[in-house]
Amino acid sequence: MRRLTGDKVFINVGSHAAMPSLPGLAEAQPLTHIEAWTLDYAPSHLIILGASYVGLELGQAYRRFGSPVTVIETGQQIMSREDPDIVEAMHRILSEEGIQFVLSAEPFTVQGRSGEGVSLAVSTPVGAQTIEASDILIAIGRIPNTTGIGVDAAGVTLDARGYIRVDDRLETTAPDVRAIGECAGTPQFTHASLDDFRIIRDNLAGGARITADPLVPYCVFTERFGARAYQLPFLRVQLSGWQWLALAGDHHPTAGSRGGATISASPAELAGPLRGAEAAHGEREKRLGRREEG
Ligand SMILES: Cc1cc2nc3c(=O)[nH]c(=O)nc-3n(C[C@H](O)[C@H](O)[C@H](O)COP(=O)(O)OP(=O)(O)OC[C@H]3O[C@@H](n4cnc5c(N)ncnc54)[C@H](O)[C@@H]3O)c2cc1C
Repeated sequence: MRRLTGDKVFINVGSHAAMPSLPGLAEAQPLTHIEAWTLDYAPSHLIILGASYVGLELGQAYRRFGSPVTVIETGQQIMSREDPDIVEAMHRILSEEGIQFVLSAEPFTVQGRSGEGVSLAVSTPVGAQTIEASDILIAIGRIPNTTGIGVDAAGVTLDARGYIRVDDRLETTAPDVRAIGECAGTPQFTHASLDDFRIIRDNLAGGARITADPLVPYCVFTERFGARAYQLPFLRVQLSGWQWLALAGDHHPTAGSRGGATISASPAELAGPLRGAEAAHGEREKRLGRREEG
């Protein structure tokens, strides 16, 4: 064994795909997003558990490779965190491409093996169903990679969901140990993890930045249905939790705010409001003394 020591420690171990405890699922050796990127065939029928971003992005990709795709979701709608208009547009676009959705569904057993043939039993509001498919992919969320790495021995505590407990400067419960990204409960985006790095870097250089109230734009990397003039991806950008910009399935993407007027905007025009929001956020940070001038 090799022992490494340092004055400062940064834990940045990320997360892995969550697996539901479903009888027969482990034996079925289901796909996660990792295996789904490397399959060298298009499944003759792919079941996906989870109708959130990863499930929908991969579902649309495999549908376009020619696979029949059935998406199973325990909630009443796809993309549970999104607004009804966005959900409706996405549901319609993907359904028109041929993706089948089974909502409010509780899977209860799996038989067979992914790649060779699986049979999934689900209860739904209209009764029990058995769905036969060739492959099954699990996309129900993420679990932090904090089990079995000995953080407790270092005095680093976890919260009830296994995330490393950090304060708003990303400092853990142990001195000089900081945590970054998904393992610290940061929003699950590359740019959010990168911003954690920036906060820590600035603070080590004498700054006083914190993670509270972050500005986190994000996208769903599905593509709108069919070959239309604009070929725009479906995009939803959330700014400070109240303002939004959206490119949906229409010819004219829209920008607006909740409860406010809706206006048409092109992707180039959307860049302006985004930069404006970023600048406003920067000004606010400066006022609060969290960001240096310049
Ligand atoms: C399918 C999928 C699609 C995504 N799409 C997007 C997207 O479009 N846009 C976006 O912004 N985000 C996306 N994300 C999320 C994004 O990938 C993560 O939020 C981001 O990578 C988290 O960064 P991180 O630094 O916390 O961890 P990671 O990038 O996961 O890095 C953690 C690293 O630590 C390593 N590690 C794990 N355990 C240990 C250990 N014990 N010791 C040493 N090293 C260890 C891991 O192997 C990994 O290399 C997606 C995620 C998935 C799964």
